Amino acid sequence: LSSKAKDPYPDWKAGTPVPYAALCTTFSLVEMTTKRLIIMEHCALFLRQVMRLTPNDLLPTVLLMINKLAPDYAGIELGIGESLIMKAIGESTGRSLQVIKTDQKDIGDLGLVALKSRSTQPTMFKPKPLTVRGVHQGLMGIATISGNGAQGRKVDGIKKLLSASDAHNTGKVDITKDKGGPSEAKYIIRFLEGKLRLGLAEKTVLVSLAQAIVCHEADQRGKLPSTSDMEKGESILKTVYSELPSYDVIIPAMLSHGILNLHEHCKLQPGVPLKPMLAKPTKAITEVLDRFEGQTFTCEYKYDGERAQIHYVAKDAPQELSQAAPGANKDAAKGVASIFSRNSEDLSKKYPDILAKLHSWVKDDTKSFVLDCETVAWDTEEKTVLPFQQLMTRKKKDVKVEDVKVKVCVFAFDLLYLNGQPVVEKSLRERRELLQQAFTPVEGEFSFATSMDGQELDEIQVFLDESVKASCEGLMVKMLDGTESGYEPSKRSRNWLKIKKDYLAGVGDSLDLVVLGAYYGRGKRTSVYGAFLLACYNPGSDTYETVCNIGTGFSEQVLEELHAALSAIVIDRPKPFYAHSTGNQHQPDVWFEPQYVWEVKTADLTLSPRYKAGCKEGVDPAGGKGISLRFPRFIKIRDDKKPDEATSSRQVAEMYRKQESVTKNKGPAVDDDF
Ligand code: ATP
Repeated sequence: LSSKAKDPYPDWKAGTPVPYAALCTTFSLVEMTTKRLIIMEHCALFLRQVMRLTPNDLLPTVLLMINKLAPDYAGIELGIGESLIMKAIGESTGRSLQVIKTDQKDIGDLGLVALKSRSTQPTMFKPKPLTVRGVHQGLMGIATISGNGAQGRKVDGIKKLLSASDAHNTGKVDITKDKGGPSEAKYIIRFLEGKLRLGLAEKTVLVSLAQAIVCHEADQRGKLPSTSDMEKGESILKTVYSELPSYDVIIPAMLSHGILNLHEHCKLQPGVPLKPMLAKPTKAITEVLDRFEGQTFTCEYKYDGERAQIHYVAKDAPQELSQAAPGANKDAAKGVASIFSRNSEDLSKKYPDILAKLHSWVKDDTKSFVLDCETVAWDTEEKTVLPFQQLMTRKKKDVKVEDVKVKVCVFAFDLLYLNGQPVVEKSLRERRELLQQAFTPVEGEFSFATSMDGQELDEIQVFLDESVKASCEGLMVKMLDGTESGYEPSKRSRNWLKIKKDYLAGVGDSLDLVVLGAYYGRGKRTSVYGAFLLACYNPGSDTYETVCNIGTGFSEQVLEELHAALSAIVIDRPKPFYAHSTGNQHQPDVWFEPQYVWEVKTADLTLSPRYKAGCKEGVDPAGGKGISLRFPRFIKIRDDKKPDEATSSRQVAEMYRKQESVTKNKGPAVDDDF
C-alpha cells in the first residue's frame, strides 16, 4: 500500500482490530471488476495491510474472505434459510416481513434488501463500528446456537450484527449504484446465505495471501519483493494448503516462521483431512493406453462405495510419530482415529464399526497413518461386495456398533502418511509397498484394492470384465512410477483415469448436478414433483448453469421422499447466481435453495438454446446455446458432495467436446485441470 495513499480508516492503527468496513471496501472493489489479476491485487494489498497493522486478525480476515468460519472438518455450518434472514432484516430495521418479501421479489438479492432497509432506517444513536474479529465471532456464535429456541436466538444474533452495521454510512445509499457499494449489511447477509458473490474464488484468496506475505516480509527487510520469491511463495502456500487445508494451522505458522520455510512447519498431519485426489473420465481402454504410452501404469478395481480417509495415531506412538496438528480435530489427537468423507466431513459417528476393528489390521510397528480407501457394503454370507444402494441404507449419525446391519469392508488403495512422515511425494509403487507392509488384510473387514499391473489391452479388458463381475463400477488406472505418480491432493489428475463399464463409448462418466427447481407432477404424480431442473457449477463465475430437465429414473417412493425434502427449501424466485433461460415457457413451477446434488446418467450431450451449461466455455461458436443432456436418468443422491463440488461447467464442456471429437474423428480433446 502506497504510503501516500489517504488512509480511509483513521481509527485503524497498528494493533487495533481490523475495521469490518475496511474489508467491505475491498469486497466492493473486487465486486466491481471481473479481472482476476485486479481482484488479486485488491486482496493482496488488503491482506498486506492487515499483516502490517493487525497480524492477529489475519485469520478471521481470510476466513471471512472465503465465506467460511472454520475449516471444513470442524463441521461448523450456519444452516440459515432465506426466511430466517428476512425475519431478521425486518425486525432489525422495523419493516414488516411483507415489505421485505416484496423488496426481495423486486431486487432479487437479500444483501441489497438489507442495505436498502438499513439505509432508510432512522438511526437514533451511532452504533459502535464493527470489526472483522467481532463479525467473525458474531457469526460463529450464530452458527453454534443449538437446542430449544435456536431459530429465535439465531435471528437475535443476526439482528445484533445488522444493527451495528454501516455505522459510518450517513444518509441514503443508492442500491442501484456500484452494486450497492461497500455496505456491511449487504456482505453480512450474503455471508449468511453462503455466497458473497464477488467472483472471488478461494484459490485467488490463497494466491493473494502468498503475495501479501512475500511483500510483507520484503517490507520488513526494507527491500522490494523479487519475482522468484513471489513464485516460490505461491507454490509453497499452494502445496502446503493442499496437504494441510487449515488456515487455523497455517496462518499462525506463516506469521511466526515466514513463508519460505512454511513446509518445514506445516505438513500433512493426522487430524486434518485433505481433499482427495480425483480421476479424469475415459471412454475406452485405447484412450488409457494413449495417455500412458511409454510409462508404467497399474489398474485397480473401482469399488462402488463411499470414499473414506482414515487418520490414526496409536496410543503408544512416540511423540515424533504422532504430530497431530495443534489446531486439528481434537478427536484425532494421540491415541485415536477419525474417518473423513471426500468432503472432509467427520464420518466417525457413521462408522464406529470400522473404528472398533481398525486396531486388528494395523501392524505393531505402524504407529500413525492417513489412508485413502473406499468403504463398501459387504455380504457376510456370500463374502462379496454389495451394491452401493445397500450402503446407503446405513444410518448416517450416532450409529451404535451393535445396531449395524449392513457390514462394510474397507478397500485401501493409497497411503498418504506413515509413522510421522507424509509419503505423498513417493511414487505409487513405493506407497503401495508401504501400504502392504503396514497392514494385515482381514477378510470382509479390510482389504487392499485388487490390482493388476499388466500393460496390454487384452489383459486390461479381461481385468475390467472381472471387476464388473465382482460388482465394481469399472477400473481406476494410475501412473505407477516416477514423480508424476505422486499423490496430488485436491486435483482431478490425468495421472488417475477411470473407466466405467457403463460409459464405454458413451460420454465417459455420469454427472453430479445440483437441483435448482421442479415441475408439479401430472396424472399419477400430482401430489409430488414430477420433473426437476438441474444445473452444473461454474466456479469461475460462482454460478449454477442449467443443463437439463429430468423426470426419469425415479421410483414412486423416491419421488415422495424428494418432495418432502425439497419442499423445505423452496424459495420465491431463482437466486441471482442461477444462470437459466428466462423464457416464460421454460420456468419451473418452484425454485429451490442450491442444496442437493444428484448423480445423473445421460445418453449424450447436445447444444440447446434452453440451457446455459458451458455458455462461458465457448461451446457454441455462434453464442447463445448451452450444453444439455439427452435422455438424462436419475441414479442416486450424492450427499457426499456439496453443490459447489458438482460437475463443473468446464467438465461438461470437456465431455461435450470429447464426444464431438470422437464423432468427427478428431482425436482426444485437450486435457486440463479444473
Ligand atoms: P465418481 O462418481 O466416479 O465416484 P467422483 O467425482 O466421486 O466420481 P472420481 O475421482 O471421479 O470421483 O472417481 C474416483 C472415485 O472412485 C473415488 O472418489 C473413490 O471414491 C472411488 N474409488 C473406488 N475404487 C477406487 C480406487 N481403487 N482408487 C481410487 N478411487 C477409487
